[in-house]
Amino acid sequence: MAHALIALGGNVGDVRATFRKAIANICGMTQAALLARSSDYTTPPWGDVAQAPFINACIEIDTPLDPHALLFVLQKVETKFGRDRGRERRWGPRTLDLDLIAYDDVSMQKPELTLPHPRLFERAFVLVPLAEISPERVIGGRSVASALAGLSTEGIERLPDLL
Ligand code: ATP
Ligand code: CA
Ligand code: CA
Repeated sequence: MAHALIALGGNVGDVRATFRKAIANICGMTQAALLARSSDYTTPPWGDVAQAPFINACIEIDTPLDPHALLFVLQKVETKFGRDRGRERRWGPRTLDLDLIAYDDVSMQKPELTLPHPRLFERAFVLVPLAEISPERVIGGRSVASALAGLSTEGIERLPDLL
């Protein structure tokens, strides 16, 4: 079993409902155990700022799949929940984005899969939910909590749990 951290994001449709179903799908399709799930957070858009706020969350799983097989499943789940890569622009609006943040301590730099996620340390919208579930986790030589300490968390708000 390997340990993986996955970031979820979206700003089109009922994103929190999508997250709930997507997490169940990820665990089912990867034979994974869900170790932790952060709260959902509302976050300012990043990159292309003229779009609706995002909702972001992170999960921690144990999975027997290798990193490429896991990414393949994540992309299948994105498509299942309405992601259409052919029609979208980079960092634009989307129903569901699933990024593999870390996979054990694997480090790889391929275009189709870079681990740890190359933009992790610039992104409070990933580090805030990650710090909720795994503050001590060291990724690329830095703990999640210390990486977050250097970033602004302005505009990021934890949403109350859904009933
Ligand atoms: P960003 O990567 O900056 O968060 P994005 O999530 O909007 O941007 P996508 O269009 O979802 O980017 O993905 C672009 C490509 O990134 C995918 O084709 C995928 O193969 C590749 N990729 C590389 N490393 C990773 C990773 N760690 N997790 C998810 N996708 C990755
Ligand atoms: Ca992303
Ligand atoms: Ca992505």
